[in-house]
Amino acid sequence: MADIQLIKELTNAFGPSGFEEEVCRVIYRHTGEFQVSNDAMCNVYMKRNDFSGKKPVVMLDAHLDECGFMVQSIRENGLLNILMLGGFHLTSLPAHSVIVRNREGEKIKGIITSKPVHFLKDSERGNQSLDIEELAVDVGASSRQEVEEVYGIRPGDPVMPDVSFEYQEKRGICFGKAFDNRIGCACIIETMRELAKDAQLPVDVVGAFAAQEEVGTRGAAVTAQVVKPDLAIVFEGSPADDFYYPAGLAQCAMGKGVQIRHMDKSYISNPVFMEAAHKIGDSRGIPYQDAVRRGGSTNAGKISLEGQAVPVLVLGIPSRYVHSHYNFCAAADVDAAVKMAAEVIRGMNQETMDRILRRDLAAVQP
Ligand SMILES: [Zn+2]
Repeated sequence: MADIQLIKELTNAFGPSGFEEEVCRVIYRHTGEFQVSNDAMCNVYMKRNDFSGKKPVVMLDAHLDECGFMVQSIRENGLLNILMLGGFHLTSLPAHSVIVRNREGEKIKGIITSKPVHFLKDSERGNQSLDIEELAVDVGASSRQEVEEVYGIRPGDPVMPDVSFEYQEKRGICFGKAFDNRIGCACIIETMRELAKDAQLPVDVVGAFAAQEEVGTRGAAVTAQVVKPDLAIVFEGSPADDFYYPAGLAQCAMGKGVQIRHMDKSYISNPVFMEAAHKIGDSRGIPYQDAVRRGGSTNAGKISLEGQAVPVLVLGIPSRYVHSHYNFCAAADVDAAVKMAAEVIRGMNQETMDRILRRDLAAVQP
Protein backbone atom coordinates (compact mmCIF):
# COMPACT_ATOMS: atom_id res chain seq x y z
CA MET A 1 0.00 0.00 0.00
CA ALA A 2 1.35 3.39 -1.02
CA ASP A 3 3.02 5.44 1.73
CA ILE A 4 0.57 8.36 1.77
CA GLN A 5 2.57 10.39 4.29
CA LEU A 6 5.62 10.19 1.99
CA ILE A 7 3.53 11.28 -1.02
CA LYS A 8 2.06 14.13 1.02
CA GLU A 9 5.45 15.50 2.07
CA LEU A 10 6.97 15.07 -1.39
CA THR A 11 4.12 16.76 -3.26
CA ASN A 12 3.71 19.61 -0.74
CA ALA A 13 7.45 20.39 -0.88
CA PHE A 14 8.58 23.59 -2.57
CA GLY A 15 10.53 22.68 -5.69
CA PRO A 16 10.22 24.54 -8.99
CA SER A 17 13.01 23.72 -11.47
CA GLY A 18 16.33 24.95 -10.09
CA PHE A 19 15.01 25.17 -6.51
CA GLU A 20 14.71 21.51 -5.50
CA GLU A 21 16.41 21.66 -2.06
CA GLU A 22 13.25 21.18 -0.02
CA VAL A 23 12.32 18.05 -2.01
CA CYS A 24 15.84 16.70 -1.41
CA ARG A 25 15.39 17.19 2.32
CA VAL A 26 12.13 15.21 2.29
CA ILE A 27 13.96 12.37 0.52
CA TYR A 28 16.79 12.38 3.08
CA ARG A 29 14.24 12.34 5.89
CA HIS A 30 12.48 9.22 4.57
CA THR A 31 15.43 7.14 3.41
CA GLY A 32 17.70 6.69 6.43
CA GLU A 33 18.15 3.01 5.60
CA PHE A 34 19.94 3.84 2.32
CA GLN A 35 23.11 5.70 1.34
CA VAL A 36 21.90 9.07 0.07
CA SER A 37 23.95 11.91 -1.40
CA ASN A 38 23.39 14.91 -3.65
CA ASP A 39 25.40 17.02 -6.08
CA ALA A 40 25.63 20.76 -6.71
CA MET A 41 22.63 20.70 -9.03
CA CYS A 42 20.46 19.02 -6.36
CA ASN A 43 20.38 15.68 -8.12
CA VAL A 44 20.00 13.01 -5.41
CA TYR A 45 21.52 9.53 -5.50
CA MET A 46 20.35 6.60 -3.39
CA LYS A 47 22.01 3.21 -2.96
CA ARG A 48 21.55 0.13 -0.84
CA ASN A 49 24.23 -0.41 1.75
CA ASP A 50 25.27 -3.61 -0.04
CA PHE A 51 25.88 -1.82 -3.36
CA SER A 52 28.65 -3.94 -4.87
CA GLY A 53 29.64 -2.06 -8.00
CA LYS A 54 30.26 -5.48 -9.51
CA LYS A 55 26.80 -6.31 -10.81
CA PRO A 56 24.94 -4.72 -13.72
CA VAL A 57 23.39 -1.42 -12.60
CA VAL A 58 19.70 -0.58 -12.92
CA MET A 59 19.01 3.12 -12.40
CA LEU A 60 15.60 4.21 -11.12
CA ASP A 61 14.89 7.74 -12.37
CA ALA A 62 12.30 10.37 -11.47
CA HIS A 63 12.58 14.13 -11.60
CA LEU A 64 12.41 16.24 -8.47
CA ASP A 65 11.29 19.53 -9.92
CA GLU A 66 7.81 20.85 -10.61
CA CYS A 67 6.53 23.50 -12.99
CA GLY A 68 6.75 26.90 -11.30
CA PHE A 69 7.81 30.47 -11.90
CA MET A 70 10.58 32.96 -11.20
CA VAL A 71 10.07 36.61 -10.30
CA GLN A 72 11.41 38.49 -13.33
CA SER A 73 10.96 42.08 -12.17
CA ILE A 74 8.78 44.17 -9.88
CA ARG A 75 6.40 46.73 -11.29
CA GLU A 76 6.17 50.23 -9.78
CA ASN A 77 2.69 49.32 -8.43
CA GLY A 78 4.00 46.27 -6.56
CA LEU A 79 2.94 43.51 -8.97
CA LEU A 80 5.53 40.84 -9.71
CA ASN A 81 6.30 39.99 -13.32
CA ILE A 82 6.99 36.27 -13.67
CA LEU A 83 8.64 33.82 -16.03
CA MET A 84 7.58 30.19 -16.28
CA LEU A 85 9.86 27.39 -15.16
CA GLY A 86 8.36 24.58 -17.21
CA GLY A 87 5.17 24.58 -19.22
CA PHE A 88 1.86 25.70 -17.82
CA HIS A 89 -1.05 26.43 -20.11
CA LEU A 90 -1.58 30.15 -19.62
CA THR A 91 -5.35 29.87 -19.40
CA SER A 92 -5.01 27.71 -16.27
CA LEU A 93 -3.18 30.44 -14.36
CA PRO A 94 -5.27 33.59 -13.72
CA ALA A 95 -6.97 33.79 -10.31
CA HIS A 96 -4.92 30.94 -8.87
CA SER A 97 -2.89 31.34 -5.70
CA VAL A 98 0.85 30.81 -5.54
CA ILE A 99 3.65 30.82 -2.98
CA VAL A 100 6.62 33.13 -3.45
CA ARG A 101 9.77 32.21 -1.49
CA ASN A 102 12.02 35.12 -0.64
CA ARG A 103 15.73 34.78 0.08
CA GLU A 104 15.15 34.55 3.82
CA GLY A 105 13.14 31.41 3.08
CA GLU A 106 9.86 33.05 4.00
CA LYS A 107 6.87 31.79 2.01
CA ILE A 108 4.47 34.48 0.90
CA LYS A 109 1.04 33.92 -0.60
CA GLY A 110 0.23 35.60 -3.88
CA ILE A 111 -2.58 35.64 -6.41
CA ILE A 112 -2.00 35.47 -10.15
CA THR A 113 -3.79 38.51 -11.46
CA SER A 114 -7.08 38.46 -13.27
CA LYS A 115 -9.40 41.31 -14.03
CA PRO A 116 -12.68 41.02 -12.12
CA VAL A 117 -15.71 40.73 -14.35
CA HIS A 118 -16.84 44.20 -13.17
CA PHE A 119 -13.95 45.88 -14.95
CA LEU A 120 -13.98 43.91 -18.18
CA LYS A 121 -14.88 45.79 -21.35
CA ASP A 122 -17.31 44.03 -23.70
CA SER A 123 -14.43 43.34 -26.06
CA GLU A 124 -12.53 41.57 -23.23
CA ARG A 125 -15.37 39.22 -22.27
CA GLY A 126 -15.01 36.85 -25.20
CA ASN A 127 -12.18 34.47 -25.88
CA GLN A 128 -8.88 36.18 -25.51
CA SER A 129 -5.40 34.82 -25.78
CA LEU A 130 -3.07 35.38 -22.87
CA ASP A 131 0.59 36.26 -22.72
CA ILE A 132 2.72 35.49 -19.66
CA GLU A 133 3.85 39.15 -19.72
CA GLU A 134 0.24 40.20 -19.08
CA LEU A 135 0.01 38.00 -16.00
CA ALA A 136 1.57 39.04 -12.71
CA VAL A 137 1.58 37.97 -9.08
CA ASP A 138 -0.11 40.19 -6.50
CA VAL A 139 1.25 39.65 -2.98
CA GLY A 140 -0.95 42.34 -1.46
CA ALA A 141 1.58 45.16 -1.76
CA SER A 142 1.01 48.51 -3.46
CA SER A 143 4.48 49.59 -4.51
CA ARG A 144 7.84 48.21 -5.62
CA GLN A 145 9.46 49.65 -2.50
CA GLU A 146 6.98 47.82 -0.28
CA VAL A 147 7.60 44.51 -2.10
CA GLU A 148 11.34 44.89 -1.65
CA GLU A 149 11.45 46.26 1.88
CA VAL A 150 8.42 44.76 3.61
CA TYR A 151 8.09 41.47 1.70
CA GLY A 152 11.80 40.94 1.01
CA ILE A 153 10.97 39.74 -2.50
CA ARG A 154 13.48 40.34 -5.28
CA PRO A 155 13.86 39.35 -8.94
CA GLY A 156 15.10 35.76 -9.12
CA ASP A 157 12.91 34.50 -6.28
CA PRO A 158 11.03 31.26 -7.07
CA VAL A 159 7.26 30.77 -7.09
CA MET A 160 5.15 27.60 -6.93
CA PRO A 161 1.45 26.70 -7.10
CA ASP A 162 -0.24 26.96 -3.69
CA VAL A 163 -1.92 23.59 -3.10
CA SER A 164 -2.07 21.25 -0.09
CA PHE A 165 -2.20 17.50 -0.42
CA GLU A 166 -5.30 15.55 0.62
CA TYR A 167 -6.03 11.84 0.53
CA GLN A 168 -9.51 10.35 0.21
CA GLU A 169 -8.89 7.14 2.04
CA LYS A 170 -12.28 5.63 1.26
CA ARG A 171 -11.71 5.94 -2.46
CA GLY A 172 -7.93 5.70 -2.67
CA ILE A 173 -7.62 9.05 -4.46
CA CYS A 174 -4.78 11.54 -3.93
CA PHE A 175 -5.33 15.28 -4.53
CA GLY A 176 -2.46 17.77 -4.66
CA LYS A 177 0.14 19.49 -6.80
CA ALA A 178 3.30 18.37 -8.57
CA PHE A 179 2.20 14.77 -9.14
CA ASP A 180 4.44 15.21 -12.20
CA ASN A 181 6.76 14.07 -10.79
CA ARG A 182 6.83 13.74 -7.00
CA ILE A 183 4.69 10.64 -7.49
CA GLY A 184 7.64 9.26 -9.48
CA CYS A 185 10.00 10.21 -6.63
CA ALA A 186 7.76 8.29 -4.21
CA CYS A 187 7.90 5.30 -6.59
CA ILE A 188 11.73 5.23 -6.46
CA ILE A 189 11.69 5.19 -2.65
CA GLU A 190 8.92 2.60 -2.45
CA THR A 191 10.59 0.35 -5.03
CA MET A 192 13.87 0.46 -3.12
CA ARG A 193 12.04 -0.31 0.12
CA GLU A 194 10.25 -3.23 -1.52
CA LEU A 195 13.56 -4.58 -2.86
CA ALA A 196 15.14 -4.17 0.58
CA LYS A 197 13.15 -7.28 1.55
CA ASP A 198 15.49 -9.27 -0.73
CA ALA A 199 18.86 -10.11 0.80
CA GLN A 200 20.28 -10.65 -2.67
CA LEU A 201 19.40 -9.00 -5.95
CA PRO A 202 20.62 -9.96 -9.44
CA VAL A 203 21.61 -6.32 -10.10
CA ASP A 204 22.76 -3.21 -8.24
CA VAL A 205 19.92 -0.69 -7.98
CA VAL A 206 20.57 3.06 -7.80
CA GLY A 207 17.86 5.63 -7.24
CA ALA A 208 18.57 8.84 -9.17
CA PHE A 209 16.33 11.83 -8.51
CA ALA A 210 16.97 14.37 -11.24
CA ALA A 211 16.66 18.15 -11.00
CA GLN A 212 15.45 20.51 -13.74
CA GLU A 213 13.53 18.09 -15.97
CA GLU A 214 10.77 20.56 -16.77
CA VAL A 215 13.22 23.01 -18.34
CA GLY A 216 14.81 20.46 -20.68
CA THR A 217 15.73 17.21 -18.87
CA ARG A 218 18.92 18.79 -17.56
CA GLY A 219 19.48 16.85 -14.34
CA ALA A 220 19.25 13.46 -16.06
CA ALA A 221 22.12 14.45 -18.35
CA VAL A 222 24.23 14.48 -15.17
CA THR A 223 22.71 11.53 -13.26
CA ALA A 224 23.06 9.22 -16.27
CA GLN A 225 26.78 9.87 -16.57
CA VAL A 226 27.36 9.62 -12.83
CA VAL A 227 25.43 6.36 -12.38
CA LYS A 228 26.44 4.83 -15.74
CA PRO A 229 23.47 2.45 -15.77
CA ASP A 230 23.20 -0.73 -17.82
CA LEU A 231 19.41 -0.42 -17.72
CA ALA A 232 17.08 2.27 -16.42
CA ILE A 233 13.48 2.55 -15.28
CA VAL A 234 11.92 6.01 -15.52
CA PHE A 235 8.89 6.86 -13.37
CA GLU A 236 6.67 9.70 -14.58
CA GLY A 237 3.46 11.28 -13.33
CA SER A 238 1.94 10.93 -16.82
CA PRO A 239 -0.94 13.09 -18.03
CA ALA A 240 -4.16 11.09 -17.65
CA ASP A 241 -6.14 11.07 -20.91
CA ASP A 242 -9.36 9.26 -19.98
CA PHE A 243 -11.49 12.40 -20.26
CA TYR A 244 -10.14 13.29 -23.68
CA TYR A 245 -10.37 9.93 -25.45
CA PRO A 246 -13.04 7.22 -25.34
CA ALA A 247 -12.37 3.88 -23.65
CA GLY A 248 -10.30 1.81 -26.04
CA LEU A 249 -8.38 4.85 -27.24
CA ALA A 250 -7.37 6.23 -23.84
CA GLN A 251 -3.90 5.05 -22.85
CA CYS A 252 -3.41 6.65 -19.46
CA ALA A 253 -6.67 6.18 -17.58
CA MET A 254 -6.59 6.88 -13.86
CA GLY A 255 -7.15 3.72 -11.84
CA LYS A 256 -6.35 1.39 -14.75
CA GLY A 257 -2.79 0.55 -13.77
CA VAL A 258 0.73 1.58 -14.64
CA GLN A 259 1.39 3.03 -18.08
CA ILE A 260 4.12 1.42 -20.20
CA ARG A 261 5.27 3.92 -22.82
CA HIS A 262 6.18 2.66 -26.29
CA MET A 263 7.19 6.07 -27.51
CA ASP A 264 6.93 9.79 -27.00
CA LYS A 265 8.80 12.78 -28.43
CA SER A 266 12.01 11.89 -26.60
CA TYR A 267 12.40 8.11 -26.76
CA ILE A 268 11.32 4.95 -28.57
CA SER A 269 11.32 2.10 -26.08
CA ASN A 270 13.43 -1.03 -26.23
CA PRO A 271 10.89 -3.71 -27.30
CA VAL A 272 12.63 -6.54 -25.45
CA PHE A 273 12.63 -4.60 -22.17
CA MET A 274 8.91 -3.83 -22.64
CA GLU A 275 8.20 -7.47 -23.42
CA ALA A 276 9.83 -8.43 -20.11
CA ALA A 277 7.54 -5.95 -18.32
CA HIS A 278 4.46 -7.26 -20.13
CA LYS A 279 5.29 -10.82 -19.09
CA ILE A 280 5.77 -9.75 -15.47
CA GLY A 281 2.49 -7.82 -15.54
CA ASP A 282 0.58 -10.76 -17.02
CA SER A 283 2.07 -13.40 -14.74
CA ARG A 284 1.83 -11.38 -11.49
CA GLY A 285 -1.52 -9.75 -12.22
CA ILE A 286 -0.14 -6.21 -12.20
CA PRO A 287 -2.52 -3.93 -14.11
CA TYR A 288 -0.80 -2.04 -16.93
CA GLN A 289 -1.78 -0.02 -20.00
CA ASP A 290 0.30 0.43 -23.13
CA ALA A 291 0.73 3.93 -24.48
CA VAL A 292 1.95 5.34 -27.76
CA ARG A 293 2.22 9.03 -26.95
CA ARG A 294 1.71 11.68 -29.64
CA GLY A 295 3.62 14.19 -27.50
CA GLY A 296 5.50 14.39 -24.23
CA SER A 297 9.02 13.54 -23.26
CA THR A 298 10.82 12.18 -20.24
CA ASN A 299 14.33 11.78 -18.87
CA ALA A 300 14.48 8.54 -20.90
CA GLY A 301 15.50 10.70 -23.86
CA LYS A 302 18.70 11.76 -22.08
CA ILE A 303 19.43 8.51 -20.22
CA SER A 304 19.06 6.36 -23.33
CA LEU A 305 21.86 8.26 -25.08
CA GLU A 306 24.42 7.70 -22.33
CA GLY A 307 27.39 5.29 -22.64
CA GLN A 308 26.75 2.62 -25.22
CA ALA A 309 22.97 3.29 -25.25
CA VAL A 310 20.92 2.52 -22.16
CA PRO A 311 17.64 0.60 -22.58
CA VAL A 312 14.95 2.38 -20.56
CA LEU A 313 11.55 1.19 -19.36
CA VAL A 314 9.21 4.18 -18.96
CA LEU A 315 6.49 3.65 -16.35
CA GLY A 316 3.77 6.28 -16.00
CA ILE A 317 1.41 6.85 -13.10
CA PRO A 318 -1.77 8.38 -14.60
CA SER A 319 -2.16 11.86 -13.10
CA ARG A 320 -4.96 14.21 -13.99
CA TYR A 321 -4.30 17.85 -14.93
CA VAL A 322 -0.52 17.77 -14.62
CA HIS A 323 1.21 21.07 -15.42
CA SER A 324 -1.64 22.89 -13.69
CA HIS A 325 -2.32 23.58 -10.01
CA TYR A 326 -4.53 20.63 -9.00
CA ASN A 327 -3.92 16.96 -9.70
CA PHE A 328 -5.63 13.66 -8.91
CA CYS A 329 -4.10 10.20 -9.00
CA ALA A 330 -5.07 6.76 -7.71
CA ALA A 331 -3.00 5.16 -4.97
CA ALA A 332 -3.58 1.79 -6.67
CA ASP A 333 -1.72 3.02 -9.78
CA VAL A 334 1.25 4.02 -7.60
CA ASP A 335 1.24 0.50 -6.17
CA ALA A 336 1.10 -1.01 -9.67
CA ALA A 337 4.11 1.05 -10.81
CA VAL A 338 6.14 0.08 -7.75
CA LYS A 339 5.24 -3.58 -8.08
CA MET A 340 6.05 -3.60 -11.78
CA ALA A 341 9.49 -2.03 -11.23
CA ALA A 342 10.34 -4.29 -8.27
CA GLU A 343 9.26 -7.48 -10.06
CA VAL A 344 11.08 -6.56 -13.28
CA ILE A 345 14.25 -6.07 -11.23
CA ARG A 346 13.78 -9.28 -9.24
CA GLY A 347 13.20 -11.18 -12.47
CA MET A 348 16.26 -9.77 -14.19
CA ASN A 349 18.88 -12.38 -15.09
CA GLN A 350 21.86 -12.50 -17.39
CA GLU A 351 19.85 -14.01 -20.22
CA THR A 352 17.12 -11.34 -20.17
CA MET A 353 19.72 -8.62 -19.76
CA ASP A 354 21.68 -9.93 -22.77
CA ARG A 355 18.51 -10.14 -24.84
CA ILE A 356 17.62 -6.53 -23.98
CA LEU A 357 21.12 -5.26 -24.70
CA ARG A 358 21.46 -7.24 -27.96
CA ARG A 359 17.88 -6.35 -28.95
CA ASP A 360 17.35 -10.11 -29.24
CA LEU A 361 18.24 -10.04 -32.92
CA ALA A 362 17.83 -13.81 -33.09
CA ALA A 363 14.09 -13.43 -32.57
CA VAL A 364 13.69 -11.27 -35.68
CA GLN A 365 14.12 -13.34 -38.83
CA PRO A 366 15.09 -11.47 -41.98
ZN1 LIG B 1 7.43 15.08 -15.61
